[in-house]
Amino acid sequence: MIIKRRDLTVLEKSHIPAIVGGVGVTAKHLFETLTGKKKVTQQYPEEPTIVPEGYRGAPYLVKDQDDNTKCVSCQLCEFVCPPKAIKITPPGPDGQVADRENAEKMPEEFEINMLRCIFCGFCQEVCPEEAIFLQNDFSLTGKSREEMIYGKEKLLALGGQVEGIKKWEKKQRDADAQDVFPIEG
Ligand code: SF4
Ligand code: SF4
Repeated sequence: MIIKRRDLTVLEKSHIPAIVGGVGVTAKHLFETLTGKKKVTQQYPEEPTIVPEGYRGAPYLVKDQDDNTKCVSCQLCEFVCPPKAIKITPPGPDGQVADRENAEKMPEEFEINMLRCIFCGFCQEVCPEEAIFLQNDFSLTGKSREEMIYGKEKLLALGGQVEGIKKWEKKQRDADAQDVFPIEG
């Protein structure tokens, strides 16, 4: 389909209405700033930044309500991580067993290179144990590259204890609402 565009008027061709409109917006913001009506700058870091709900900051490991490690060292997050920021050392056959029921193992070491991480959230999405979550931290600093590789203990300490994560609640509801799949014998 060919869309016929209307011709611009002489005034529009002169760009005067657009220029006046632009200057008007600038003048409005200038007035609001000078009169203190609108605050456009934030005194960071003295004034902390409140990030919106669902913000994707740094990924940390979390513990359950009994303070046990949720990660079972399945390595799915390591596999899916686009920039290869995650490095997991599994416990091996003689390694440490999980510190909670219904889990076979937990990682011997779990590292995230925060210099590589792009905060995409794939690790959180793929984790079957709800063990890794992107949290609110966006300002990560360190004095060396080594310092920016966060180990298991640091990740667990930063992630903290998280109760009542219901990642699969909606999926469960959707599954329950589905008709039973007909099996013809
Ligand atoms: S947020 Fe993305 S880049 Fe960062 S560790 Fe997780 S999967 Fe990797
Ligand atoms: S954080 Fe989740 S996906 Fe990654 S190894 Fe642990 S259990 Fe598996």
